Amino acid sequence: MRTAEIRSRFLDYFAERGHTVVPGAPLPTPDPTLLFVNAGMVPFKPCLTGETPAPWPRAASVQKCVRTLDIEEVGRTTRHGSFFQMNGNFSFGDYFKEEAIAFAWELSTKPVAEGGYGLEPERIWVTVHHSDSEARALWRRVAGLPDGRIVSRGDEDNYWSMGVPGPCGPCSELYYDRGTAFGKPGGPDADEDRYMEFWNLVFMQYERGEGHGKSGYPILGELPSRNIDTGMGLERMATLLQGVGNLYEIDETWPVLERAARLTGVAYGSDEDGDVRLRVVADHVRTALMLLADGTTPGNEGRGYVLRRILRRAVRSMRLLGHHDPALPELLPVARDLMAQSYPEVAGSFERIADQAYAEEEAFRSTLRQGTTILDTAVAKVRAEGGSSLPGSQAFMLHDTYGFPIDLTLEMAAEQGVTVDRDGFTELMSQQRERARADARARKSGSTVNTSELRTVLGEHGPTDWRAWDALTTDS
Ligand code: ATP
Ligand code: MG
Ligand code: MG
Ligand code: MG
Repeated sequence: MRTAEIRSRFLDYFAERGHTVVPGAPLPTPDPTLLFVNAGMVPFKPCLTGETPAPWPRAASVQKCVRTLDIEEVGRTTRHGSFFQMNGNFSFGDYFKEEAIAFAWELSTKPVAEGGYGLEPERIWVTVHHSDSEARALWRRVAGLPDGRIVSRGDEDNYWSMGVPGPCGPCSELYYDRGTAFGKPGGPDADEDRYMEFWNLVFMQYERGEGHGKSGYPILGELPSRNIDTGMGLERMATLLQGVGNLYEIDETWPVLERAARLTGVAYGSDEDGDVRLRVVADHVRTALMLLADGTTPGNEGRGYVLRRILRRAVRSMRLLGHHDPALPELLPVARDLMAQSYPEVAGSFERIADQAYAEEEAFRSTLRQGTTILDTAVAKVRAEGGSSLPGSQAFMLHDTYGFPIDLTLEMAAEQGVTVDRDGFTELMSQQRERARADARARKSGSTVNTSELRTVLGEHGPTDWRAWDALTTDS
């Protein structure tokens, strides 16, 4: 079943059961605690906290998500995308636990010919919070699950709150056993790649008070109006229904991976490092497309920096796979064609998206051209001297003069088995900041600098064409 169909079946199923289909929100969110929407409930937060009355008792959506925390996982696990889509059904003081469990079970196991996903009931496992005997009893009664496939878990995995006083409550998650080829038996506690989590049901039931951490707060009592928030991973369901090995091989990303493999001449499946890089490319190219489509542009901080890192990682992965020509002009249009059916805006504004992405790749290529030899020479010197750590001064010089961001230095040094004196680097950076602050103070207080000697040099040699700043402003 294609991803687009999994999405429409979800919305149809919940629309038929009284849910209003609400369009997903753009990725950059006004929520001050987040850079990007990272779950389906984010746009509904004011309704879930009771700050704003919900305009509908029940809603369903497909929400684009970017989880920066998961970026490092991409390609290494079978199930984490930096971009993914979360399908959700929500109840605002309307139905509660029993219906939420019944809906998730029915849609997951209903035969494909009848509009469901046709998962095999015997392969589904669930987790519940250890305190939630009600959920355990419902899974037995509503779904007929044996106790052995209902796993109790603690606060870390199965308790939800927004991190501030307000609603909180237990969760219950659905997992699918993909079989012995994917790992050890024993349920989700034994192996979360074999037993893949695909749906999380959050039962917002209690009100919590002030406190820190996962459980360091008092429960003040039952909420006057209880809510349901669920999230089904669209790509995870596609992974299960398309019978592929991981998230990066589904219909919405596989053609990008395939194109990357063809361009680099690296056969997918022949070597684990190469496979991880190809998966990173397939994932990151799509994430960059979706972020650019929603108006994020590459930059040096916040959202822009996340996008910049994602684009650079895609480009660098292609280089490490042996492709040194511009890669994005080959890959981005493939991602566009895959995503345009569900998100027409990626086709509508593709010219702008492509301009921004290709310019970023060009700027990065020029940074790499300037800095790579310097870095390689410095690393070779460290090793020749029997050391294992690149001095902070070298990392600082690469940053200051060649616009080489520290994370790139760390990554490239690590590839050659060398660490970086990060503390030394940080110290030099703060000295530099302090100098800049002192200069600014001096300017503000009207102190003047004697420039006569500088003028003499300028007169003799003309202005300096100092290209490092170009690299710094576009790449650091
Ligand atoms: P995991 O334990 O596998 O990291 P999670 O518990 O962090 O997942 P939730 O926060 O419960 O995930 O999100 C709800 C659903 O969204 C998950 O059940 C899963 O189907 C999907 N999901 C979460 N993170 C990702 C991701 N990085 N890529 C793809 N799908 C995801
Ligand atoms: Mg997670
Ligand atoms: Mg989980
Ligand atoms: Mg979960």
